[in-house]
Amino acid sequence: MIQEFGVEHAYDNHFEPHEPAEKDYVLHYTAAGCLARVTHVGGADADAGDSGEVMELPRLADYPRRPGLVTYLFSLGEERFFLALDERVLAPAGFAYESVNWLRRAEPQHLLFAAATGSQLDRWYRANRFCGRCGARTELASRSREVVCPECASIVYPRICPGVICAVTSCRGDDERIVLTRYAGRTTALWALVAGFTEIGEPLEDTVRREVMEEVGLSVRNLRFYKSQPWSFTDTLLVGFWCEVDGDPTITVDRSELKEARWFSRSEIPLERTGDHASLTGEMIERFRLMGRAAWE
Ligand SMILES: [Zn+2]
Repeated sequence: MIQEFGVEHAYDNHFEPHEPAEKDYVLHYTAAGCLARVTHVGGADADAGDSGEVMELPRLADYPRRPGLVTYLFSLGEERFFLALDERVLAPAGFAYESVNWLRRAEPQHLLFAAATGSQLDRWYRANRFCGRCGARTELASRSREVVCPECASIVYPRICPGVICAVTSCRGDDERIVLTRYAGRTTALWALVAGFTEIGEPLEDTVRREVMEEVGLSVRNLRFYKSQPWSFTDTLLVGFWCEVDGDPTITVDRSELKEARWFSRSEIPLERTGDHASLTGEMIERFRLMGRAAWE
């Protein structure tokens, strides 16, 4: 998954008021995306999830003029990442703004993780330049990752929205099936699992039951936590659950959200996710295809 890469790039997001050195990464984002240099390596089928691109992110030394407002983000092993909060910077030669979502195809994975996680923090900083309570201009706390209001002392923390991914299964003897869904309104939507955001006041287990009922009209039982995954593309922390259909397996598709949903036997599961190494959804679908009920037992 996107957060899984070698220990040499272990994630450390403890905040310290570091100053960037010339070799440190300094990320910059606009509405168009993340400043990156992408090289096509050819041959690979990127649409099938194969890596077709290699990306590099800018280091301080690459910028023709040093960005003015820079804050420390996190480290991946020995590599430190900073964020330039300037509206505009002079882009280093060879770098351009690339859609962070599009970069999901690119390698190496730790830089993809850095670009996505940095984008979440960039959105958070930019959305909180003014205090939501009193309207005063906010400041960055000097020794912690907080936005503070000098007028009313309001403190804003980074935004993380929990959501669930639900693998709904039915296993009787050799008949092992899973519910896959496809979103409406997206021509390129891949087959996916039931998913949705947690409502305020709602435990994760109830999110699973509610989303499965809303999207495909099924009751579920035997919820089992699998893994969680930061999904910074949408400010989300995804929590993956396996569960079993309880009672009538007849699917009723919520057409306002989904184009289609149906049961797939293991041999029917499309291979379009086989090369998807970034997402928890992809990992769970592929795990069920290969292992059936042993995926969680
Ligand atoms: Zn305030």
